[in-house]
Amino acid sequence: MVDGMGRRAIVFLHGCPLRCLFCANPETSRAAACATSSCVSVQQVVDRLKRLQSYQLDGITVSGGEPLVQPQFTAALMREARAQLGWTCTLDTSGCSTRAAVRQEVADTAAQIRAAGVQCITERL
Ligand code: SF4
Repeated sequence: MVDGMGRRAIVFLHGCPLRCLFCANPETSRAAACATSSCVSVQQVVDRLKRLQSYQLDGITVSGGEPLVQPQFTAALMREARAQLGWTCTLDTSGCSTRAAVRQEVADTAAQIRAAGVQCITERL
């Protein structure tokens, strides 16, 4: 088990406002990385993940960098991974984002949990 339960694919997103000395992925937050990284759509990422289905993965972990720097992309990626692959989704975050983005992610996640049949949820931030 690394970065979540079971066998997982990890999607590393670019960008992080912090500069931790111990960062394992400093290239994801340095400006120089922009020259070698590319912009992809949510569907392009999901299509790449579909190629991994033969490995019988349990889910994806969205990491970085800081995934909440791109909250809409992160939420859409997790939504489509669940819908198209049936995989669980884990968010690897420092929580370093705007309060509104975190609030929205908590609300979206709570809605998905309720949709799965769990009725008693307390959302706090
Ligand atoms: S928050 Fe995480 S990704 Fe960002 S600099 Fe620190 S260790 Fe690296």
